[in-house]
Amino acid sequence: MNLKDIKTPAYVCEEEKLIKNLELLKYVGEKSGAKVLCALKGFAFSPAMPYIDKYLNGATCSGLYEAKYAHEFIKNGEIHTYSPAFKDEDIDEVLKISNHIVFNSFNQWIKFKDKALTSNVECGLRVNPESSFSPTDAYNPCGKFSRLGITRLNFKEEFLDGISGLHFHALCEESSESLEKVLNKFENLFGEFLPKMKWVNFGGGHHITRKDYNVGLLMELIKNFKDKYRLEVYIEPGEAVGWQTGYLVASVLDIVENGKKIAILDVSAEAHMPDTVLMPYRPEVRYENKNGKYGYLLGGNTCLAGDIVGLAANDSDYFFDKELKIGDRIIFEDQIHYTIVKNTTFNGVKLPDLVMVDRDNNVIKKVNFGYKEYRDRN
Ligand SMILES: *Cc1c(COP(=O)(O)O)cnc(C)c1O
Repeated sequence: MNLKDIKTPAYVCEEEKLIKNLELLKYVGEKSGAKVLCALKGFAFSPAMPYIDKYLNGATCSGLYEAKYAHEFIKNGEIHTYSPAFKDEDIDEVLKISNHIVFNSFNQWIKFKDKALTSNVECGLRVNPESSFSPTDAYNPCGKFSRLGITRLNFKEEFLDGISGLHFHALCEESSESLEKVLNKFENLFGEFLPKMKWVNFGGGHHITRKDYNVGLLMELIKNFKDKYRLEVYIEPGEAVGWQTGYLVASVLDIVENGKKIAILDVSAEAHMPDTVLMPYRPEVRYENKNGKYGYLLGGNTCLAGDIVGLAANDSDYFFDKELKIGDRIIFEDQIHYTIVKNTTFNGVKLPDLVMVDRDNNVIKKVNFGYKEYRDRN
């Protein structure tokens, strides 16, 4: 298949790159003794789920629907479910399909304790280690007034009966050096409770598949921790699973001029690349050349004036060696994690299709979207 043959818009995941990430994550798990779960919050892509099932130890879910999804796609691994607050109407099903459930407060634990202890599930509590190196407040689970996890001040030893593990999640696109610092803080605050525990979950945010990530240090931290406390360790990366495994491909629909040349695409920054707006960051475009002669703004096909790629990051001029033409493809790199899971049909724009391709660009699997997705949710 040629790129030209992909109907746009589409998120295209490259099998070979996904497998490379999964092999590294599996290696980390096997060498360190940790169990590695895929965080569906960051990476849920149905054509990729058989690979997740094959290489990793299961999935981590934020509530009932992600747990149902894991239950449908994960045949071999464990299902762990955490939610800032579980609802009465959801809890029975969550308990039925999960192997671990993690509560965010003692209120929630006490409320659901009897049900949880009569089902076949391990119960844990999320704690807040009050230490993080997140790049931005929106992604800092340990920031001021955070609702995520129990602080040491609110931790109640007298209610630990029935709790078999502790969970913390404090990182976002972080190094293992950051984990080391957070882990120190976690041990200082909660170490005294660990002899009572069977497992600790180090959460996500470990950027393991990034080129310069110190995998050796991560494995050492896990091994030492396991030896010291004699318990099971879990990590649950999301971004690291989908990191640099594919792209979002768009077509140029029109080119207009108003002080600058503006290409209008059949994708939307707002609807299809939401983290470029929230983080914010400027996505890379294939064949872009900063010294190219032809500059363009890349605009979404919505009526939102600010739906310009890179605008939120104050860096929206894209340059190319050749003039863009109507019908050209624009390829936004690394748009597989935190895109599909967050996209919307804002303004009635079409959800990009999901495509999995092999190393020769043959389509292995494809999921199409259309009008139905818009109608059903509006
Ligand atoms: C978001 C999240 C993860 C995954 O984080 P990544 O940055 O995608 O690795 C794991 N666990 C919890 C509780 C989360 O909220």
